[in-house]
Amino acid sequence: MSLLVVGSVAFDAVETPHGKVDRMLGGAATYFSVAASYFTHVNLVGIVGTDFTAKDESIFKGRRIDTQGLERADGKTFFWAGKYSENMNERTTLATELNVFAEFKPRLPEPYQSSTHIFLANIDPTLQASVLHQVSRRPRVVALDTMNYWIERTPKELRETLKHTDILVINDSETRQLSNEHNLLKAARHIFTLGPKALVIKRGEFGAMLVHQNRTFSVPAFPLEVVHDPTGAGDSFAGGFMGYLATARKVDDAALRRAMVYGCVMGSFAVEKFGLDRLRSLKKTEINTRARHFHKMTQFTL
Ligand code: AMP
Repeated sequence: MSLLVVGSVAFDAVETPHGKVDRMLGGAATYFSVAASYFTHVNLVGIVGTDFTAKDESIFKGRRIDTQGLERADGKTFFWAGKYSENMNERTTLATELNVFAEFKPRLPEPYQSSTHIFLANIDPTLQASVLHQVSRRPRVVALDTMNYWIERTPKELRETLKHTDILVINDSETRQLSNEHNLLKAARHIFTLGPKALVIKRGEFGAMLVHQNRTFSVPAFPLEVVHDPTGAGDSFAGGFMGYLATARKVDDAALRRAMVYGCVMGSFAVEKFGLDRLRSLKKTEINTRARHFHKMTQFTL
């Protein structure tokens, strides 16, 4: 089994009620690969500029992350700035500077081409599709994330890529925007007509919901007294979700449910500190302990 991710490796400026950081390492593929590497080996495809130093790259070292597919180009690394509301349920994007991403043409190194699990993180849907065109055989699972930026700017291209997607992993407002349906179950039904067979809806402090085969499964968010920085929670969720799935023998309902829990586990760690600070220093035992907490927290007798 091998897991491939394509997505942004970025510098972020983030402001939350707990503090402000003008420039820190971020990007969807960064959060995803660090989170997933606690479960399995990850092949990373992305692009950085000349401002991305060896110190920045050290986040990937000493982990099961292959960076052969991380291209370097002349210019600046992707930059994103965001500000969270007082209750941290809403965020405003203050800046999206594509920089080297604008000219990015993902190229899969030969060993990546047989990846069995693929996560198309939130980037231009045309780039997501170009990754799928380069794989040598049908992957077992293709999952895709997207956001309002792409839903609004490239709706046709997104629909084309969705035709080749098994699992759509998006947040609740994007689910509504993509389907034009407020009710999430109706939205899911609409999304299934576009290609995906399963929908994972990330709901921030309300956890996450899986809809597939006429079934739903919900996991609450882990109760935390203080959330410092929600940035990357969704990508870390996806890293735990896909990282676990890549280790499962079958992608059945039971495996998907466990993947949901590991997704929520990794998302909950991500928000405990700014940027990647908490994720980078995790131990597998902490992940397992938190998964057991989820098990206890959601059990009841009838
Ligand atoms: P999340 O909080 O999980 O939704 O993801 C946050 C990460 O997504 C940040 O580290 C950003 O660098 C990255 N990001 C934000 N906007 C975009 C975009 N339009 N394309 C690619 N990555 C983005």
